[in-house]
Amino acid sequence: MSKNVFRFAPSPNGHLHLGHALSALLNARAAVALNGRLLVRVEDIDRTRCTPELERDMFEDLAWLGLQWERPVVRQSDCFAFYRAALERLQDTGLVYPAYLTRAEIKGFVSEQEAAGEAWPRDPDGAPLYPGDAAVLCDAELRQRAVSDAPFALRLDMKGALERIGARPSWQEAGAEGGGLFEPPVSVEADPAAWGDVVLARKDTPTSYHLSVVVDDARQGVTDVLRGQDLYHATSVHRVLQDLLGLPQPVYRHHRLVLDTDGRKLSKSNGDTSLKALRAAGMTHAMLRRRIGL
Ligand code: GLU
Repeated sequence: MSKNVFRFAPSPNGHLHLGHALSALLNARAAVALNGRLLVRVEDIDRTRCTPELERDMFEDLAWLGLQWERPVVRQSDCFAFYRAALERLQDTGLVYPAYLTRAEIKGFVSEQEAAGEAWPRDPDGAPLYPGDAAVLCDAELRQRAVSDAPFALRLDMKGALERIGARPSWQEAGAEGGGLFEPPVSVEADPAAWGDVVLARKDTPTSYHLSVVVDDARQGVTDVLRGQDLYHATSVHRVLQDLLGLPQPVYRHHRLVLDTDGRKLSKSNGDTSLKALRAAGMTHAMLRRRIGL
């Protein structure tokens, strides 16, 4: 029987924090409990925020945690050719379009709508759905941007994508820890429309988080995506891309988040909860496990 393949896929765009420790350790435990394999994938497509120093610190943290993973490690910055090929396949379907609105233009448009009493829909992360270039730019400006060197994002026509797929996608969700690991998955109905026309790539980056994650999970034969609850809704987008690209669907296992003392989600910008800082301050493995509820 083929083995379960788990992956821990951090981005070295900041220091790992307690939430990453939970995710890494849950992946390691699940791989052992299910007699599977554990991969680490470096998600470093953001070439400005990810640095070699942060990646080095990340591996130091993982070694300190006692994590054992397979080598060689896949680094997404080495895989742009795979993402480009997948993007081209999506472009061949006619469902990808260049979108020229800047963040500031989207924000300005949405503020105007809301000032006029029109609530503008937001995606599950709280960002406004893309209004479409034509809602904001006149024809002449649109033509000008298309022929000039203006920056653009390549977006997926989500409505068209769902029509092409036919049935509404769903995913298999299973437990992330303890006895939940052994329970059969339940089917969850995806809601990709809640994200609107997601970004698949940008003028200077031939991929996005959503595209590279589904390409790599398939390329690496990942069978179990065990990650934080904060990415639960992103699974809807991942399922659409898998269906459009004909990729297999892993089982998803979203785990609880580690919250700060005010009950907020931890973030990489909050330096004092970084593993590096906590280790330097004398945190032991036992203290860590207590803090993250393991
Ligand atoms: N690289 C993502 C992060 O650090 C995780 C991606 C995933 O697990 O799907 O948040």
